[in-house]
Formats: sequence, C-alpha cells, structure tokens
Amino acid sequence: MAKKEQTAIEPTRADDYPEWYQQVIRAADLAETSPVRGCMVIKPWGCALWENMRAALDGMFRETGHVNAYFPLFIPLSFLQKEAEHVEGFAKECAVVTHHRLEADADGRLVPAGPLEEPLVVRPTSETIIGAMYAKWVQSYRDLPVLVNQWANVVRWEMRTRLFLRTTEFLWQEGHTAHETRQEAWDETLKMLGVYKRFAEEYMAIPVLTGEKTAAERFPGAVNTFCIEAMMQDRKALQAGTSHFLGQNFAKASEIVYQTRDGGREFAWTTSWGVSTRLIGGIAMVHGDDNGMVMPPMLAPSHVVILPILRADGDRETVMSYCAELAASLRARTYAGAPVRVEIDARDMNAGEKSWQWIKKGIPLRVEVGPRDIAQNAVFVGRRDRPPREKSGQPRDAFVAGIAPLLAEIQAGLLERAREFRNGNTARMDSMDDFRSFFTPANAEKPEIHGGFALAHWCGKEECETSINDELSVTIRCIPTEREAEDGACIACGAPAAGRVIFAKAY
Ligand SMILES: [Zn+2]
Repeated sequence: MAKKEQTAIEPTRADDYPEWYQQVIRAADLAETSPVRGCMVIKPWGCALWENMRAALDGMFRETGHVNAYFPLFIPLSFLQKEAEHVEGFAKECAVVTHHRLEADADGRLVPAGPLEEPLVVRPTSETIIGAMYAKWVQSYRDLPVLVNQWANVVRWEMRTRLFLRTTEFLWQEGHTAHETRQEAWDETLKMLGVYKRFAEEYMAIPVLTGEKTAAERFPGAVNTFCIEAMMQDRKALQAGTSHFLGQNFAKASEIVYQTRDGGREFAWTTSWGVSTRLIGGIAMVHGDDNGMVMPPMLAPSHVVILPILRADGDRETVMSYCAELAASLRARTYAGAPVRVEIDARDMNAGEKSWQWIKKGIPLRVEVGPRDIAQNAVFVGRRDRPPREKSGQPRDAFVAGIAPLLAEIQAGLLERAREFRNGNTARMDSMDDFRSFFTPANAEKPEIHGGFALAHWCGKEECETSINDELSVTIRCIPTEREAEDGACIACGAPAAGRVIFAKAY
C-alpha cells in the first residue's frame, strides 16, 4: 500500500470537505469565531487579503465613473416597509434596535430602557436609506446619473453560520446608482456584472459564469437579478456577486423623482450591486488544497516570504544582511503595477515548522537562504502551487529579475486549473435519470464527490424549479447570459423549453 502523503490539513478535502474548509481558514489564520454568536473576527492575514480585494475593486469602480460615500448603519423600520417585497425578503433576518439606554433594575442588573418611538433596523442592505437621500439629491435630469458605492458592514441574522461564507455580520461593498432612462440603468447593471466577472477571473483566478437569477432567487424588490457563479472543489456553486436592475420600484418607494428634459416628471431608474467577504471563502474553496490556503498572487497579502536558515550563531549577521538586501531588491520590482510584497520571517523556531506555517497561509513563494546558498549567491525557492517538497535552487539575480513573470505564471496557472476543474465537472443533461444520478453520491463514504454544474432545459415554471430543489437540493444557479437557443424538453416536466439553464447544489 502506498504511504499516505503527509498533509498539513486534517481532514483532507476528499474525507470531509466542510470540515477541511474550517481547518484551512483556521490554519491560515484568516479568521476565527468570536464570543458574539455568528460574528467572526477577521484576523490580520485575512484583513490584508480583504484590503487588497477592496483596493482592486475600488479602482475598477472609479474607472467606471463611481465615487464612494457613506450612509447610516441604522434604517428606520418605516423606510424598509416602503418596498413591500423588499421588507418581506429581509424580515426574517433583521436585527432591530428598540431601545437607546441602559438602566439598573431593582437587582442592579442593566436592562434596556428608553424605548424608541420607531425601531431601527441594522442595515441588511441600504437601498431604502440611500433611496431617501437620492430623493433629495435628484431634482432634475441634470442631477443624473448618481453613481455611488459604499464600503460597509451589514447584518443579516443567521442561525447557522460558517466563517466568511455565512456570518451574521459581514463586510461588503454596495453600489447604488440612479439613472435617467431604463436603458442606462440596464446597461449599468450589466456593466457592473462585467466588472465582477473581470475581478473574479483576473484577481481571484476564479472562472465564473454570468447569468440571470430566476424569479424565485431574485433580490427582494428587484426586477432582474444577475449573478456570477463559481464552482468550488466540492462541485457546489458559490454565488460570488450580484447586480440588480431595480427598475423604478425603489425610486417609487423612496420618491426619487426628477424633472425630465421636456419639463415632465419621472421616477428615476435605479440599480444596486454588491460583493462581500464571502469571496474570501470562495478563494479558499477554489484554490486551497490539503496543505491549506493558496493565495492568488494578485491579491496575496505578501508574495514572498524569506526564511533565513541559521545553523550556527556566527552565521546570523551575514545571513540576515543578505536577506535584507534580497528583500529590498525584490521590493524594487513591480508586479501588476505595485511593488512586490516581501516579508522576512526571522522568528527563532524550527525551520520546517516555520515553512509549514507559510504553506498553510498560502503565500505564493517561500525563499530559503542559508550560508551555503549565500556562498553560491543562490536562493532555494518553494512555490505554493507545487508540492511542498518540490523546491529548486536558483541564482539569486535570476530569481529577482524573474519575480514578476513567476508570480504571473502562478496566477495564470491557478485560473487554468480552476477552469479545467469546472469544465470537467460540467455536463449537459437530457434525462431526469441522468440528472438524478449526477446529483447523487456514488460512494456513500465520500459524499463530497459528486455533482457539478448540470446544463439542462427548463420550461420556466416555478413548480419545476421547486420540485427539483425539494427532491435533490439542487437549484437553478442562473439562466446563462450567453446561451444558445436550443429547443428541448424541461428536465422536470418534459414541456417545451427554449434553452439550458445551470443547475447545481449551492452554498
Ligand atoms: Zn417544467
């Protein structure tokens, strides 16, 4: 029997994917649970990743003409109620502030006091509060478009939580725009969907499919919801971003009315779009392996860690100054328009253990430098996209000169690998028997290994969508944006259908 490869993460992906995920997040020191139920603490390594994601997205929002603003955390209950579908969609997950003071009771315990005249909802999303402001800002067609984004935290009360993927409080951005015409708002909705797709593929190295949600999966109050969907390594889908065409629904609710070019009065056309810290969970689940996190270089908090190998006390000064000079040379190089990010880990601890810590954190490159390497002016390099034991000695100068192409190669390789995995687990289905067996584990001991994206015909009826979900826990992820017109029969009821949609199990 072959000796089992030692891995840093127990269990492995194949043994218990959900538990593997939790262990990867923990081992990479990205986040941990907090004393507040359902709320996570994002630790410095996870926060640095989010900051890089935020910076990249923010740049893309600016390029497309958007500016940032900030709106209140609290939303008066009456604001949410203005849009009926909206409040109904969010009612079950609202945190509500009802008091504004604490007072000691007879036993000296602090209890809420000072009931509010109107309860305040901690924002689950900000359409209504932002709409109330746009109603003031927009008077004439000259005030349009309004192209604003907000970086914020939101709260959606969750009973079952999982770090990054589903937490009561999370960080996100929400774009909110108002336009003069339907066409302009429609174009904006699709433009931002395109921005998300580009961000997912170019920065996160995650291939995504774009499409429209069915009515059942639509954002509460939206006319159309578009999404990007990615496949995780357990073959489930992760909705990685959404862009909503809101029509005039929220403008009517908030009374965003403008004077038209010919002197009439018209409701504005609005959009909203968002991505959240959930994407960090997506990066872990797409690129992570049985040794831990794998950071795509475009977003990695650090690109290179230099690990000084100190065997004798006398080496210390020579090795440390060589490492400092190497770090400076690398930082003088740029990758994707910014200096290469380098750290030196000189902690006094076992070299093997130290190296494993960085593997688990997913840093793209580990560089070992010892007296022997210095004598040859060489470095010993380990790549996170290769097995941990596969390390290569390289001339120092060649390594420094080639750092940007090397990072680019790793980035491209991650995207390619993820694309191959997704394509290899995507299948066209024309019979319910095939569909059923695709979504049923063949091996009861490895329940994680089944399913994927099934492209099948759907007649458009909600009953068919519901019956498939009830039987197999499979949902329509989206109606692909670019799909071939192809006559077929609905996978559930056999009625005529005009094209295939994407079915999958999902987070
Ligand atoms: Zn049907």
